[in-house]
Amino acid sequence: MTAALPPTLQRVLKGKSCAGCGLCAGLDPAIGMTRDAKGWKRPVALGTPAPGTDALLAKVCPGATISPWTLSDAPETHPFWGPHVRVLTGNSTDAEIRHTASSGGALSSLALHLLRTGAVNRVLHVGMNPEKPLETLITRSADRDDILATAGSRYAPVSPLETLRTELEAPGNILFIGKPCDVGAMRQLMQADPAVAARIPYLLSFFCAGTPSQDGTDRIVRKLGFEPEEVAHFRYRGDGWPGFATAETADGRRARISYAASWGDILSKEVQFRCKICPDGVGGAADVAAADAWYGGETGYPEFEEADGRSLILTRTRKGDALVAAAEAAGALSTEPLAIGEIRLMQPSQANRRRLLASRLAAMAVTLMPRPNMQGLHLGEARRQARAREEAKSFVGTVRRIVTGRI
Ligand SMILES: Cc1cc2nc3c(=O)[nH]c(=O)nc-3n(C[C@H](O)[C@H](O)[C@H](O)COP(=O)(O)OP(=O)(O)OC[C@H]3O[C@@H](n4cnc5c(N)ncnc54)[C@H](O)[C@@H]3O)c2cc1C
Repeated sequence: MTAALPPTLQRVLKGKSCAGCGLCAGLDPAIGMTRDAKGWKRPVALGTPAPGTDALLAKVCPGATISPWTLSDAPETHPFWGPHVRVLTGNSTDAEIRHTASSGGALSSLALHLLRTGAVNRVLHVGMNPEKPLETLITRSADRDDILATAGSRYAPVSPLETLRTELEAPGNILFIGKPCDVGAMRQLMQADPAVAARIPYLLSFFCAGTPSQDGTDRIVRKLGFEPEEVAHFRYRGDGWPGFATAETADGRRARISYAASWGDILSKEVQFRCKICPDGVGGAADVAAADAWYGGETGYPEFEEADGRSLILTRTRKGDALVAAAEAAGALSTEPLAIGEIRLMQPSQANRRRLLASRLAAMAVTLMPRPNMQGLHLGEARRQARAREEAKSFVGTVRRIVTGRI
């Protein structure tokens, strides 16, 4: 008998809804992760799945069911920005972390605070593969040096939950940091399995516009004048805010391009289909979510050259709110309150995606593509803010992309 993926995953792959998080492989050794032609991570059958795997995946896989915002105990939920206890801007008070990190180092400083207080024993997240610097791999951090080495965004495929079983076999509590889909998967697994929840006291996430293909990284490298094999170190941004996509070779050559050129001209055009229909690019399932608090405008890009990093911080559960308060009291993080209406100026593309999501889902329905379950995500409220004309354009564009296979 040939090995086959569980029906839930077959349906997820048919609907192009796989996020690539790797949770399926992390739960059942009969499932592995492989790279497709563009370098995205996808599940592959290695054997016969355990009897309960399919039913569990139907509940926890973020290609099958999106974690509902209603799981949060936050007092308020905004139709675009999700559950929130407090809305803040802030930065790490550790100048090196702030400079190295993606925006203001909020996530790295919270991680370091949790390690220093002993609330967690290690952090499970991702970073540059030192052996293959254009690739991204699972990383475990236990001290400040580890956290510094891992700070920053990796705009590339990685499956942070692929090793979950072995991570849980080792003793100690774990902080998990991941994209909204990764964290949503963990939140749903923790709902289904209290033993997992007991080991993972906090989930941190960030706003995410989508995972670009691995090809996107190669395109940046070539634009910088290098061949991918020559690169000995690669970062997408950070080392300033927003910082530069920077490649270095073993013989000391170095080239860089701006965030607008790397994300705007290349990576944003390489994003997988699952991310274009993501109802939760804002990390609504996390205890705390961070993002870029751009001093921007309607463009969604920073309207400045370089500045000291500043994170947008949403505390999304009471526990997450207490964590931010404790990190501030310990002097690890500095924050200021922000009016929630200001977020739209910092993150216009996230608002657009939420507004137009219903039209994209309708396009999937008429083309008979299976869609993930999306309950408890306030999609109706977000949709009411869309104009009929832009919805129609989005619907037709999505149908056209689906039928011509350009997804
Ligand atoms: C694919 C992607 C899309 C993004 N889209 C947006 C967006 O739409 N709007 C926006 O404001 N910001 C976006 N960001 C960046 C995000 O703004 C910053 O990560 C956030 O501001 C937190 O900054 P920080 O300085 O607190 O994080 P840091 O202190 O630098 O910590 C970042 C953490 O994220 C983890 N991480 C990095 N890359 C990945 C990855 N690919 N998968 C899982 N975990 C990862 C790291 O391991 C690290 O723990 C995106 C990042 C990624 C990787």
